[in-house]
Amino acid sequence: MPRRSPRGEDHDARTLHDHHRHDGVRPGWPTVTRHGPVLPTWMCAGCDRPWPCARRRIELRAEYDQAPVSLRLYLGSCLVAASQDMSWATAGTLHHRFLGWL
Ligand SMILES: [Zn+2]
Repeated sequence: MPRRSPRGEDHDARTLHDHHRHDGVRPGWPTVTRHGPVLPTWMCAGCDRPWPCARRRIELRAEYDQAPVSLRLYLGSCLVAASQDMSWATAGTLHHRFLGWL
């Protein structure tokens, strides 16, 4: 059994990381997502739709499965930031987009 080189371990770590980036969403597990917001336009980096996109909403529901209040606080802070970045959008539109799906 040959000893593993540090380089081999690096490769293993990268493989594990890629595995976590896979689309599988497990409730309670932090998700590294491609579907993050691109600022200041608040479009999804993964699918170029208004953030949070349908995919990200599914991920957020899974990530905050045990903490719906935390999810609301998080999205509320996003809403505040987005309303400053998108001053042309009405508060009602943004509220619907960020919190209306919960
Ligand atoms: Zn997306």
